[in-house]
Amino acid sequence: MSNTEHGLDNAENTRPHNFITQIIDEDLASGKHKEVYTRFPPEPNGYLHIGHAKSICLNFGIAKDYNGLCNLRFDDTNPLKEDVEYVDSIKEDVEWLGFKWAGKVHYASDYFDTLYDYAIELIKKGLAYVDELSPEEMREYRGTLTEPGKNSPYRDRTVEENLALFEKMKNGEFAEGKASLRAKIDMASPFMVMRDPVLYRIKFAKHHQTGDKWCIYPMYDFTHCISDALERITHSLCTLEFQDNRRLYDWVLDNISIERPLPHQYEFSRLNLEGTLTSKRKLLKLVEDGIVDGWNDPRMPTISGLRRRGYTPASIREFCRRIGVTKQDNVVEYSALEACIRDDLNQNACRAMAVIDPVKVVIENFEGEEILTAPNHPNRPEMGERQLPFTKEIYIDRADFREEANKQYKRLVLGKEVRLRNAYVIKAERVEKDAKGEITTIFCTYDPDTLGKNPADGRKVKGVIHWVSALHNHPAEFRLYDKLFTVSNPGAEEDICSVVNPNSLVVKHGFVEQSLGNAAAEKGYQFEREGYFCADSKDSRPEHLVFNLTVSLKESF
Ligand code: ATP
Ligand code: MG
Repeated sequence: MSNTEHGLDNAENTRPHNFITQIIDEDLASGKHKEVYTRFPPEPNGYLHIGHAKSICLNFGIAKDYNGLCNLRFDDTNPLKEDVEYVDSIKEDVEWLGFKWAGKVHYASDYFDTLYDYAIELIKKGLAYVDELSPEEMREYRGTLTEPGKNSPYRDRTVEENLALFEKMKNGEFAEGKASLRAKIDMASPFMVMRDPVLYRIKFAKHHQTGDKWCIYPMYDFTHCISDALERITHSLCTLEFQDNRRLYDWVLDNISIERPLPHQYEFSRLNLEGTLTSKRKLLKLVEDGIVDGWNDPRMPTISGLRRRGYTPASIREFCRRIGVTKQDNVVEYSALEACIRDDLNQNACRAMAVIDPVKVVIENFEGEEILTAPNHPNRPEMGERQLPFTKEIYIDRADFREEANKQYKRLVLGKEVRLRNAYVIKAERVEKDAKGEITTIFCTYDPDTLGKNPADGRKVKGVIHWVSALHNHPAEFRLYDKLFTVSNPGAEEDICSVVNPNSLVVKHGFVEQSLGNAAAEKGYQFEREGYFCADSKDSRPEHLVFNLTVSLKESF
C-alpha cells in the first residue's frame, strides 16, 4: 500500500537514524548496555510545547524502537514555580501523543531523602561545603568567562562544621539566601558550572509533592544525574545548553557511591520553530497577560493548543520524525509543521461543506427538496458517504460570486454557470441588493440534468463551488487563526505584547451542512475549498457550533 494511502502511518514505522541511535547501536553491540532506558524529565512549571514533543518523540521513540523503557520523571526541584495542574497536563499530553511511560510516574522529589544522603557523603569526603556568601557576593566571586573566580572564605570549613551547618539548613535555622551547600570543585575552571556549583539552596516553600517536609531543595545539576542513575537510565538525552553541565553530571556521579554502570548524558539541538515561542516562561506570560485564551488557546504552540487547533498525535510525531535529531542549531519553518497536519488530514479527514461568509441563493426553478449523497472522501470509499439535502434556498460564499469577472474567475458570475459541489449546475440570473448596495440574494436557475454529469449539450462548466442548504443546516462560528506574532523570532523581543498579531484570530459566522451537527471535538474535517477545521473542544456545543481553522488547504505564501 502506498505511503499516501494511509496518511502518515507508514512513514512512522521506519526507525530513525541519527547520531544518538548510532551511539546506542554501538553501546548494544559492544555490550556496554544490554538494554536501553531513557527518560523524559519535564519541570512541571508550565504546559508542554512543540519543543518538548521533539524530546518526547526522541526519548519514548527510542525506548519503543529498541524494546527498552522510558520513564516520565517530573524534575520538581523548584516548588515556587511548579503546580499539580502542570503535572496533570503533562501526563495527559504525553499519553495523547501516543506514548506510555514505564511503570509509575517518577518525581525527582521521590529522591529528596536519598539526595540528602548523597550530599552528606560529599560533605564527608570534603567535596561539599556550606557557604554563607550572599547571592550577590557569590556572583562576584564566581569570576567571568575570561577571569577565574575566587575561593569563598567559607570554603575550607571542616567536615564536622559543614555537617552541622547543613543540618541547620535542613532544620530551617537559616533564612533564605543566608546559606547554601556548594560542591568543592575548582573556582578557576574554564567551565563556569564547575566553579563550586550550588547543590542545595534554602526555600521556605510548600512543595506540591512533599508538602512542608523540606525547606532546602536540591539544584537541577545535583538532582538530575542522581535521579538518572537511581532509575538505571542508560542514555540521558537533553538539549545542547546542558553541554557544559555534563562535566558536573559526571563529577557528581563519579564522587558518590551509587550503583554502576552510570548513565551518560548526550545533547541534541533544541527545536526552534519560526514565529513561535518555545519557552514555558514566555508562554506563561501570554497566558497571564490574557493575550491568549489559556495554555490551550489554538494559537499556542503548546501540545494542548495544537490539539485543540486540530493537530493529530500522528501529525506531531511525523513532524518530529521529519525534523530529525542533530547537534546543529537551526530554526524550522512553521510550514514544515503545517505540512504534516495537512498531509494527515488530506488522507484521513472527512470532507464536508461549510459556508463561512454566506450569501443567499434562490434557485427559482427548483421546488421541494431532494436528498443528495456525497462521498466523505473523494478517493477512500471505505470512509462512507453522507446525505446532503438540496433545497430551493441555499447559501454560497460571498467570495464565490461576482456580477462581472474575467475568465480567470472560475466561480459564479451573473449570466454564467457554475457547478454546485456534489449537486447541480446553476446559472446566476439576477441579484437583489440592500440600500447600501450589498448583494442580499442571488437568483439562479438550475439544470436538472446535471447531477453527477456534464450538461447534455456539451456546454463546458469549469467552476465548482460549495454550498449549504438554507433550510437544513447548522449555524456555526468559525475561528480563523493566523500567526500569533508578527515577527519570525518573537523570543528575541523585549516586549512580547508589541509583536502580537492583532489579526491572529478572526471570527466569522456562517453555516455548516446538516451532517456536522454532532461533529466530535477535535475531529478534523476538510471543509471543501475552505480549509481543515475541527470543532472546538472548549466552546463548541450542539446549539452553538464553533469550528477552529486547523490549517489552510494549501501552503500560503
Ligand atoms: P522551557 O524553556 O520551555 O521551560 P525547559 O527545557 O526548561 O523548557 P523542561 O521541562 O526542563 O523545560 O524540559 C523537559 C525536556 O524537554 C528537557 O529534556 C528539555 O531539554 C526538552 N526540551 C525543552 N524544550 C525543548 C525544545 N525546544 N526542543 C527540544 N527539546 C526541548
Ligand atoms: Mg528546564
